Amino acid sequence: MIVYSIKIQNQAMLEIKQLHKSYAIGDSSLHVLKGIDLSVAQGEMVAIMGSSGSGKSTLLNIIGMLDEADEGDYILDQVPIKNLTEKKAAIYRNKFLGFIFQSFNLINYKNALENVGLPLYYQGLKRKERQDKARFHLKKVGLLDWATHLPSELSGGQKQRVAIARALASDPKLLLADEPTGALDTTTSYDIMAFLQQLNDEGKTILIVTHEEDIAAMCKRIVRLRDGVIMEDKKVTQVRAEAHV
Ligand code: ADP
Ligand code: MG
Repeated sequence: MIVYSIKIQNQAMLEIKQLHKSYAIGDSSLHVLKGIDLSVAQGEMVAIMGSSGSGKSTLLNIIGMLDEADEGDYILDQVPIKNLTEKKAAIYRNKFLGFIFQSFNLINYKNALENVGLPLYYQGLKRKERQDKARFHLKKVGLLDWATHLPSELSGGQKQRVAIARALASDPKLLLADEPTGALDTTTSYDIMAFLQQLNDEGKTILIVTHEEDIAAMCKRIVRLRDGVIMEDKKVTQVRAEAHV
């Protein structure tokens, strides 16, 4: 008899059950997420779609522990995310998650290398180790030659690459991107998507909020939000993005 010793496959990277979120607006409240169930396995590349105001960012921010749900369960890499202190949430955020935003969110007065090294500073790494790691990741996104340049000296695509390098610096298990190509032209958008696909090929789990069909088609699964619920969740054949750089 053969006894298989297997690592549990397809273990959920994140598991969300019956998630609800409302915003208070004056005396009334806006029910944005109305019972979201979502499970994402390690290695997936998922697009979260929906029209403007459908709650995509709200969902991503809850997944990213930048915001909290009112109701429901959220388990991230086996850790229940509930009633965490600010401190604990920050530790988990740093350990588990990398963020990429539409507007890059780089610090204007810090150069590319310093921006990439910033999460490592918060992790308490020493200067030398920070610089080595930041250099490694800047090289990975093809921008080592731009290390000493300020964000204002970089193109939109380069800024987003720096932001990706920063997101990768702490080696997160999960990469969260909110409209990462929203401020970029089509060619540059596809370059960024080609890079995200490469990261996913290497095993990184990635969630991308977008309202662009061509960007969503470059993921492996599309989740569509409407009226606070998931109206569709399907695996798709990934369209490969072609890099131009
Ligand atoms: P999307 O990212 O899909 O465009 P959001 O998650 O940003 O949608 O917003 C969903 C709805 O919640 C919108 O109607 C928005 O105006 C509202 N909303 C988002 N954040 C807040 C907030 N902090 N306070 C009040 N309303 C908010
Ligand atoms: Mg949004």
